[in-house]
Amino acid sequence: MPSVYELRIDELAAHLLGEPRYRVEQVWRGVWDEGLALEDITTVPKVLRQRLSETFPPALEVANEVASDLGATRKWVFRLHDGATIETVLMNYADRVTVCVSSQAGCAMGCTFCATGQAGFSRQLSVAEVIEQVMFAARVAAPRRLSNVVFMGMGEPLANYPVTVGVVQRLHEYRAMSARHLTVSTVGVAPAIERLAAEGLPLTLAVSLHAANDQTRDELVPLNRRYPLERLYRACETWIATTSRRLSFEWALIDGVNDTDQAMHELAEYAGGLRAHVNLIPLNPTPGYLVRGSGSQRVHEFRLGLEELGVNATVRNTRGRSIDAACGQLAAVTNAHPTRVTLRALHGGAPEAGSAPRQQADSHEAGQTP
Ligand code: SF4
Repeated sequence: MPSVYELRIDELAAHLLGEPRYRVEQVWRGVWDEGLALEDITTVPKVLRQRLSETFPPALEVANEVASDLGATRKWVFRLHDGATIETVLMNYADRVTVCVSSQAGCAMGCTFCATGQAGFSRQLSVAEVIEQVMFAARVAAPRRLSNVVFMGMGEPLANYPVTVGVVQRLHEYRAMSARHLTVSTVGVAPAIERLAAEGLPLTLAVSLHAANDQTRDELVPLNRRYPLERLYRACETWIATTSRRLSFEWALIDGVNDTDQAMHELAEYAGGLRAHVNLIPLNPTPGYLVRGSGSQRVHEFRLGLEELGVNATVRNTRGRSIDAACGQLAAVTNAHPTRVTLRALHGGAPEAGSAPRQQADSHEAGQTP
């Protein structure tokens, strides 16, 4: 389906053949600077707005909307043209407005603590489908300006590499967003991290680490079997050396699994060598995962312990928990085929037969070009 968000300005001009140049610029400004829907760009005549709206119909249809935190957090379930569903979350903070976007419908990576991973992979999103999430949220956020975009919703952004790069490029060039305001989160697709480093894009990289020994990480993040910690470390070094930017590690704290003193020391050694920032995430409840998140006292101790070991660490605000909008909860209620993940998968046994994510991760990655 054609989308105005995939056009360069000269391509938009071609669609407006016969119109004066200032009309093209009015539409362009309305779309990108003001974040308006085509039918709301009132600086251009109504008949032209209607024609544009018919040529470029919206890619997303709201299937459900939930709000929490007194309306400061809103989650939408969007239905796409083929019936696939994705989720997008808008978070209003005192100092910033952030949208968390999905990069894929579902996810093939199969992280055992993640609702999206438990539900499996449907398909890749297009550039237009990702940008439309941003613009939809920007319209809802108005009159506040949407300041931050984080690729932390459904999907592994680096497994949809060309789309992720295309979205970042457009948001930077057409909406003037800088590296501080664009964050791509990856579970550790090492070759794609190295390739991304060479692109010279303005973005912040967050790596979902969750364990700093291979045995535990193999269980929590199956992709680790393909790109183990040592390989990931080399990719992180390349990122830092090439971009001169710090990276951050995400660490969802799981009671008795990765919140032990030993896990803390392993993390401190891994993150310390890279001078990375650590974002601690109190684990959110998901239906297929039977292990509990760490208690708030342990979260506090873990953070202090890391600081004492010389690692800068913060605890992420788990805003949106009550509407399944927090990290690891997307798809908890919207996807049709949840996969049951047992303790066995975490403590040394293979994931249950039928828990397709591993198999899907392989086939999905084969489709990318890291
Ligand atoms: S944590 Fe991220 S990469 Fe892992 S399954 Fe969930 S969405 Fe996919």
